[in-house]
Amino acid sequence: MKKYRVLRMAALLGVLILPGCSQGILEGIATKTAAPITEDDIEVAEAAENGTGQDSEGQIDTGGWRKAESPVQLPILMYHSISEGNGLRVPREEFRSQMAWLRENGYYTLSPEEAFLVLTENRMPSEKCVWLTFDDGYTDNYTEAFPILKEHDMKATVFMIGKAIDKGHHLTENQMLEMSRDGISIESHTINHLELNRMTAEQQEAEMVQSKVLFDHILDQDTTVLSYPVGRYNEESLRLSEEAGYKMAVTTEPGGASSDQGMHALHRVRISPGLSINGFASLIENASKH
Ligand SMILES: [Zn+2]
Repeated sequence: MKKYRVLRMAALLGVLILPGCSQGILEGIATKTAAPITEDDIEVAEAAENGTGQDSEGQIDTGGWRKAESPVQLPILMYHSISEGNGLRVPREEFRSQMAWLRENGYYTLSPEEAFLVLTENRMPSEKCVWLTFDDGYTDNYTEAFPILKEHDMKATVFMIGKAIDKGHHLTENQMLEMSRDGISIESHTINHLELNRMTAEQQEAEMVQSKVLFDHILDQDTTVLSYPVGRYNEESLRLSEEAGYKMAVTTEPGGASSDQGMHALHRVRISPGLSINGFASLIENASKH
């Protein structure tokens, strides 16, 4: 129920959805705990509901899409930093060769909305599809990955940590806005990047709802995907993610993603540094089925 959801958000956030700079919202979130619903909150909730379209169900023309012959298994590639130094960082030249391989081999890169349709309707915009994702929202996603993605006209998704916006080696609000205007979706990696399976349901809910409100506000969008920090989640997380309004959530369970995993427990293919291009190719081919 949309109305219920809006009310829950208002209750969790107090009156923080009132106009203001997002930094203010974030600071508010950091100190705010769940509060009972008050008359003021209900007014805010109603204003939000009557306001301009949360419902940007991005109209995708699926006219030319093909029906898959068997249930789709989709490679959702998981990157973090595009740099060097540890097992989570993929050097720029390796990333560049991987993107070139995808393009040369006819892979289509999906937006979250397209990935949702591929997985739930078993239809594909192209014979070969991948969904590129980056966790944590490092600055190098903007300085290193973004130019390469643009060069190849590729879409990708960055899962940003709410509290890391404008901090240290992470994306700024302006970088996020620029990327989201140019094919890179910014989605949620919670506010505090803590392990959800160690939290109470209320704490998990706060992380999920507050980050959705934050990204909805900053990017003027309906944030639809959640990435569980450090891949940690439990049964409650699956339910809470759906209730918070996400259409999908991704994990770090290895392999291709399919709807039978549950749309809130989608598997991903981790891309580690030092992978040969043949190794990259077989990871993707093994995770694809349709
Ligand atoms: Zn992370």
